[in-house]
Amino acid sequence: MRVHEQLYIDGSWVAPLGKGSIDVVNASSEEVMGRVPRGNEQDVDRAARAASAAFEPWAATPIAERARYLEQLKDGLAARSDEIARTIAGEVGTPINIARSIQAGLPVTVTGSYPALLREFHFEERVGNSIIVREPLGVVGAITPWNYPLHQAMGKIAPALAAGCTVILKPSAVAPLNAFILAEIVHQIGLPPGVFNLVSGAGAVVGEALARHPLVDMISFTGSTVAGRRVSEVAASTIKRVALELGGKSPSVVLDDADLQKAVSHSVSNCFLNSGQTCSAWTRLLVSRKQHAQAIEIARTAAAKFTIGDPLAGQARLGPLVSAEQREQVLGYIRRGLEEGAQLVTGGPDAPEGLPRGYYVKPTIFAGVRSDMSIAQEEIFGPVLCIMPYEDEDDAVRIANDTVYGLAGAVWSGDPARAQRVARRLRTGQVDINGGKFNALAPFGGYKQSGHGRELGKHGLEEFLEVKSLQT
Ligand code: NAD
Repeated sequence: MRVHEQLYIDGSWVAPLGKGSIDVVNASSEEVMGRVPRGNEQDVDRAARAASAAFEPWAATPIAERARYLEQLKDGLAARSDEIARTIAGEVGTPINIARSIQAGLPVTVTGSYPALLREFHFEERVGNSIIVREPLGVVGAITPWNYPLHQAMGKIAPALAAGCTVILKPSAVAPLNAFILAEIVHQIGLPPGVFNLVSGAGAVVGEALARHPLVDMISFTGSTVAGRRVSEVAASTIKRVALELGGKSPSVVLDDADLQKAVSHSVSNCFLNSGQTCSAWTRLLVSRKQHAQAIEIARTAAAKFTIGDPLAGQARLGPLVSAEQREQVLGYIRRGLEEGAQLVTGGPDAPEGLPRGYYVKPTIFAGVRSDMSIAQEEIFGPVLCIMPYEDEDDAVRIANDTVYGLAGAVWSGDPARAQRVARRLRTGQVDINGGKFNALAPFGGYKQSGHGRELGKHGLEEFLEVKSLQT
């Protein structure tokens, strides 16, 4: 049991002004595994004042010094990575091997990318008689989700600190324990007081208080489209900058000359990663109608390899969903798919056998899915793949772009030039071509209702900078 009774504000662990606490439930045992404070508006106000007071000196620190702090932060995260992985495997349900490599590993990679980026970034340029300077934006409110909780947090905090901004983190109430480990590391490395602050609590209370607060200059939000819309509305009263990383319904477009076996099995793995609780998951697999039957068989075989079980046991490729609520939402979509007439290839709404506890859902594949079905349009956020037949290349592009989202995607073809041509036609922030690997320096973010703004790499740093022109 990890019990935290204090918030981290102005370089100290302090008693919260908000009353009560939030229980953190283990996704596989359904038992309470930790507790964090239920912060309130006054806690946000304290943190905002601290972050605001810390801003000017932090913004003025030499770049080499900020880079050194980021190195130390990276080393601190690496040193506690096993504990981080086990904590997130518990609160989110991610199988331990994936928790080690992604949940604990990616924050180290991302944080570790900024010292070098910082050293080579051009903070000034000359345009005619003007000097253009890029300055830190101010106080950043970082609001993060539960699915890759520490990665989402470091995707904001590392570039914000690198830019010279100060930060208030409001982690998801569902998986907040990892954020407390982060705050302990921040404290240990001696980051100046107020530069990083942690206020846990409910989204509608702490999140909205951050979005509303006049001393908070920017909200960097990752989460659902519904909450992102609300954050934008609340933030509008103070005209603060808002960056939104929201949901997705990303397509994997398998062109008719692709290696079908590789493309389909890779797409199934991508969709089921973290039990499908991945914003950029390829949840729609587009295949030529001529290859639909063959793709179904490949997908069925690939799905059978996704053994379900205890995330900490080490064998399971698929853990539970994060919560009972999330499981209900996903099962609702599976039932809806059946009602809508999609062909159930594998899985379904029945509970997996031999797992009386934990929020498990069978890996589920629907085929013959049409774009007008809700399972093809709405983000399910569970291990549910929709196979959608298309007639020709133009039809594939039309279907791929036919959702309100535009976060990620994939294109597969035996002809790399053709694949790239189709990739450029997708209205989405990232496209992996023929299994192109994740790049922690490439910008990540959405088109359309998947949000705006970019995280990671140089583009992620630019999010936290203001531009000033000095005429000489
Ligand atoms: P969520 O929107 O419920 O919560 C996200 C965060 O926002 C949490 O910290 C929550 O407490 C807070 N919040 C909720 N309501 C709020 C409000 N009214 N004002 C301010 N803050 C509020 O999302 P979730 O369930 O934690 O995460 C899943 C969602 O996140 C999915 O839709 C997923 O696609 C999305 N996501 C997107 C990305 C991306 O980079 N695009 C990454 C991960 C997750």
